Amino acid sequence: MRRRKGAAPTPAEITQAQDSLERRIRAHLAKGRVQVTLTDNRYTMISVRRISKEKRYEVRLHHMFADADPVITRALARYVAENDADASRVLGDFIDANSDHVRGRARRTPAQVIFTAGEHYDLRQIYDELNARYFDNRIEAAITWGARTGRPRRRNSIKMGSYSVEDRLIRIHRSLDRAFVPRFFVAWIVFHEMLHQVHDIRVKNGRREFHSKEFLADEAQYADYDQARYWERQHLDALLTY
Ligand SMILES: [Zn+2]
Repeated sequence: MRRRKGAAPTPAEITQAQDSLERRIRAHLAKGRVQVTLTDNRYTMISVRRISKEKRYEVRLHHMFADADPVITRALARYVAENDADASRVLGDFIDANSDHVRGRARRTPAQVIFTAGEHYDLRQIYDELNARYFDNRIEAAITWGARTGRPRRRNSIKMGSYSVEDRLIRIHRSLDRAFVPRFFVAWIVFHEMLHQVHDIRVKNGRREFHSKEFLADEAQYADYDQARYWERQHLDALLTY
């Protein structure tokens, strides 16, 4: 949205900017409806929720996208509808180039692109369900799939999930966004990372203790805990080949 110097946009101006951006993205979509919400979020620049049954996309975009040109709106359409890797690179570059629009962010810090919708799993959905069921909706974090990698290879280890305290950001490895990985397993990894917001990292005998006794006890409360651990043992090779 165009801003007058020093003046915050009015609600009517925001609605107008959202409608305009919706139209410009839809122009590049073969099918499906798109609903745009512009945000001022410091960490989440793009977040997509796909409602497949209704062929509808809910897209939350940082307001830096309000005046995006057709190259960017086309990349948005391709990212939203097809999870297209080239499109996500174009969007990443755009975000980096416009990071000075992000309030409170140091100019050179690259902005975080949040990709919640994977090819098989929507992390937002899993996170919301877990937050309601286990945490009384008290967890406040962003969640994203990690970066894509190149050609598949057998790895010695994979960090399946991580939680950044500073950014309040949960990152889940793309290896888990595959058809053979059951949903209860993805949810277990997400659940584990959410617990890191509840349990502070303590120092014990001069070492940081990431998973205290209390943490592990809480982790075992997960409904499919045994099943998830068993599945991981059975499929570790497949998980590590990504
Ligand atoms: Zn952990």
